Parts: sequence; C-alpha cells; structure tokens
Amino acid sequence: MERVVLIKYGELTTKKGNRKFFIQTLYQNIKKKLNGLDVKISRDISRMYIEFLDDEMELVLKKLNQVFGIHTYQVAYKIDTDIEAIKELATDIMKEKVGTFKVETKRANKNFPIPSTEFSRQLGGLILKNNSNLKVDVHHPNTTLTVEILDRYTYLYTDIYYGLGGYPVGVQSKGMLMLSGGIDSPVAGYLALKRGVRIDAVYFEAIPHTSLEARNKVIELSRKLCQYTDTIKLHIVPFTNIQEAIYKECNPEYCITIMRRMMYRIMERLAKRNKGLVIINGESIGQVASQTLTSMSVINAVTNMPVIRPVACLDKLEIIDLAKKIDTYDISILPYEDCCTVFVPKHPVINPNLKECLLNEEKFDYEQMIEDTVNHVQTMIIQENNPEEFSNLL
Ligand code: ATP
Ligand code: MG
Repeated sequence: MERVVLIKYGELTTKKGNRKFFIQTLYQNIKKKLNGLDVKISRDISRMYIEFLDDEMELVLKKLNQVFGIHTYQVAYKIDTDIEAIKELATDIMKEKVGTFKVETKRANKNFPIPSTEFSRQLGGLILKNNSNLKVDVHHPNTTLTVEILDRYTYLYTDIYYGLGGYPVGVQSKGMLMLSGGIDSPVAGYLALKRGVRIDAVYFEAIPHTSLEARNKVIELSRKLCQYTDTIKLHIVPFTNIQEAIYKECNPEYCITIMRRMMYRIMERLAKRNKGLVIINGESIGQVASQTLTSMSVINAVTNMPVIRPVACLDKLEIIDLAKKIDTYDISILPYEDCCTVFVPKHPVINPNLKECLLNEEKFDYEQMIEDTVNHVQTMIIQENNPEEFSNLL
C-alpha cells in the first residue's frame, strides 16, 4: 500500500501576501534536506506530498523534523478515489486498533456521490463490524481516522505529527550570529533560524590564548546548526591584538565592556560586507556582568544595527533544555576556554558608564586595529555532513 507524507501549511497561511514565496522556500528547503533519498515531492496550494520508499520512512521523517515551517504532517495511505477501495483500506487500517474511534471525512471532491457525514457513518459501521475491540466516541476518541477525498486520490490517516513550526529558513534576510563555544549562542542561532532568518556565524578567537580545540568546538556547533538550514558560513575573527591592547591600556574593570564594544563594531562591519542586516547573539538579561541592562545599553551604543537576542528573557535552565534538544549541549560543555573566559577580570563593572568607556577607548588606535582585524577574517563553509571542510579562506 502506498504511503505519502502530507504536509499542511500552518502558520504560513496567515501570511497572505507572502504565501507563494513561503511555500516555494519551504519546498526548496525540503528538497535540499531530502537530497539523496528516493523521494518525490509535489505540492499544491494547500499542501505538499512526499512519496518515499518504505524502508527510508524513518529517515525521511527524521529529516522533516529538522525543517522549519512544517507545523503538522501526517503519514497517509494514498489510494484511488473509489468507494469500494476506500472502504477496504479503512477497515484494514483500523483492524488492529483498540479503544474508541471516529471517522472524519473531508470531501474536497464534490463529485464524490456520498456526502461526508453519511460516508463517515458508513465507514464507521464497517469498521465496527470488522473489529469488535472498537467503540465509537465522536467527542474524545482514541483514534480518529481521517479520510480526505480529492479528485483523483483519497488519503487516509490516523496520526498527526508535530513538526518544528516557525518559518522556512530564507524567508527573511540574513543575520550575523555571534557564536562562541558556550551554551547560549547556538540556541540563539537556532531560534533565529526558526523565524526564517538565514545566518552567518562569527567567532572571535584569541590564539594563542585560546586553542584550536576551542575553534573546533565552534565548527562543530555550526555543523549542528546546519541541521536546520543548509550551509553556514563561519567567519573567524583574529581578535588577539585588540584584546591584548585592551588589557594593556584600559581600566581592568572596563575591559569586558570595551571588548564587547569592539566585538559589536567588528560585527557591524562584517554584517555590511556579508549582507547581514542584524546582529544576533546569546546574551541573556542578568546572566553575567556584561549582560545587565546598563551593560547592554552601553555596549549597544556603538552600533545602530538591530541586535536580536533570542534568549534574552529565558532562564538558563530553559536555554539548557533547548541546547539539549538541538544536540549542542554536549559540545558546548567541553572545557576549552574562549576569548571571553581567558581574559575575565576579577571585578568586571556591572553598571558601566559610557563616558568612562570613551575615555578608555581613547588610549589606543582601535579604528586601525579593527580595520586590520576585519581584513584578516577567515571564512569557512560548514556543512552538516562533511567533516572535511571543502573550502577555506574565501
Ligand atoms: P555563551 O554561552 O553563548 O558563550 P555566555 O553566557 O558565556 O554565552 P558571554 O560570554 O558574555 O555569555 O557572551 C554573550 C554572547 O556574546 C554569547 O552568547 C555570544 O553570542 C557572544 N560571544 C561571546 N564570546 C564570543 C566569541 N568568542 N565569539 C563570538 N561570539 C561571542
Ligand atoms: Mg561565552
């Protein structure tokens, strides 16, 4: 018996003007995601159909569960729109079920000679006759058998699965994700992708103070994020000179604040170069000294570019739950230090003031250093299934 995945467009349908573009993007994303599997994907205005080979079903469903923009889907039996054939299949599907059930018929094909309620009743009667373990309950059934009658084919299914929701990646422009090796920023990236935002990742490294293992962590985290999009460009910023200058010249209490202001300045430039419209990061209100509202506002003062902080209002435990769900947690907790942890001062200022930042920043020619740094950024292209990066130094 042929089975297909039926994908219905949930939240997409509320965006009338964009509908076509959304569906096209979702279609392309699903096609890329299932590349290599023996599937046939087709679509119409209300849904998408995926035909697959039986022994690849688990894999198809696993992959679909990583595509944003899919709210619910069903694995349906597909059959010609023929009364006797439908009846036979319906009894067959319900043969092994126990408990209560109801049948729900949706008749999109108005040439089908039996009205929906009448057909549901007929099917219900037949199912009962063939399975004495079942009872009808139209209000709270254990199983609902849905029968969707279209012109040529009819689809029957009992289970509805939930996808990831959100919008298809690519319906928004690009954001630049500040990706450290920590727990928060990969989750922030995931949540941005969920809203349809494409991302480039940016990692600030301070070799020799930070190790190549720390960089590899970020590569692996990017690879995990690739599960939800296709490829990710990872820009690696050589941050050592700027960091050393900050720690040499500035008031220790202000080092972190100023370091983060430098990061934002660099992010803005990289965004412009790479057509990113916003900065995305894993800051969470109150989590550390540089994430108090005062700190955020003083740090944010260096750029007009919108800064999106998807996890700003989540508790650490909520962030950890998400990190586990998207499988980044175990990578994030590996012990290699990143540039922020290497240079943490004993008493970072909790309520920095802007004037003090400006005075400290006058002590060295950061503009020139930023220029040099940006010119030495390396870019890698990360893919989900390709342990050997095929490209370096674009
Ligand atoms: P995370 O768990 O994501 O590392 P955190 O709680 O350790 O976050 P911070 O180190 O203060 O917080 O960093 C806040 C955010 O700044 C991070 O979530 C990340 O988006 C960005 N960030 C910090 N360090 C780096 C880095 N080395 N490269 C790129 N982005 C960074
Ligand atoms: Mg960190």
